[in-house]
Amino acid sequence: MEEFPCLCQACAGQTPREVASLGSPERERILSRHNLQACFSELKRIREAIRKGRLWDLLEHRAYTHPALKRCLNRIADHSKELERYTPVIKPHGIFYFGNLSAKRPEIQRYKWRLAGVRPARKTVVLLLPGRWRRPYREDPRYRSIVSRFQDEKRVQIIFYSIPFGPVPLELDETYPVAQTESLDSKDPTEYRAKAELVAEFIRRLEPRLILLSKEGDYGGAVGKEILKLIPKPKLLSTPGERLKPDSFIRLVEKRIERLRIAD
Ligand SMILES: [Zn+2]
Repeated sequence: MEEFPCLCQACAGQTPREVASLGSPERERILSRHNLQACFSELKRIREAIRKGRLWDLLEHRAYTHPALKRCLNRIADHSKELERYTPVIKPHGIFYFGNLSAKRPEIQRYKWRLAGVRPARKTVVLLLPGRWRRPYREDPRYRSIVSRFQDEKRVQIIFYSIPFGPVPLELDETYPVAQTESLDSKDPTEYRAKAELVAEFIRRLEPRLILLSKEGDYGGAVGKEILKLIPKPKLLSTPGERLKPDSFIRLVEKRIERLRIAD
């Protein structure tokens, strides 16, 4: 080591080489004072993270500094029921989502459990749109006009498939923490599949007669695949989201709704 990374009083004004050349009692005195300061500063950081409601963020940050800490956080995450109980329902700030490990954070788990507990009303048609970078998802420029055209249609349920939360019904799009989550697409197929399973399971409970999926990227592909495991193929109509023209999509949906109405 050429330089001490810390700014503590014990190490100030000295290089590691100088400290190493000192006699044993003096060297030990400096190192133990440094260790003590490092411990206190970490404790202060933890307490501050607790006060700010950012303890999980700190844990995740620390988990990637050493495999042992990652193992430790994995063990902590096994107790997510317990963690969720003591996590405030609303916080003054949003949360971060980095991938699989963040999926275990209490806010995300809580969303999943609560959604699994609600009994959604049956819907004839489900519009399944990607929840992309813009939040709330309804304000995405690509899908805004589609949402405003169908949001008041009684037979239609709009659902976004999002990376951090899986299924997000339009009604929950602006609630905490959905609209306040800063997320990263880790491009991880196992994560896509896990979230796609949640989407498909939620849609199955709506018992729709038709699902119109705007399929974007590999996540959209995973969503389509999981739906077909639970719902018979003729009920799913997917269209490539990247090339989607909102006006023609709206016409397509209107035509399909009309056809179902005639069939009734
Ligand atoms: Zn130091």
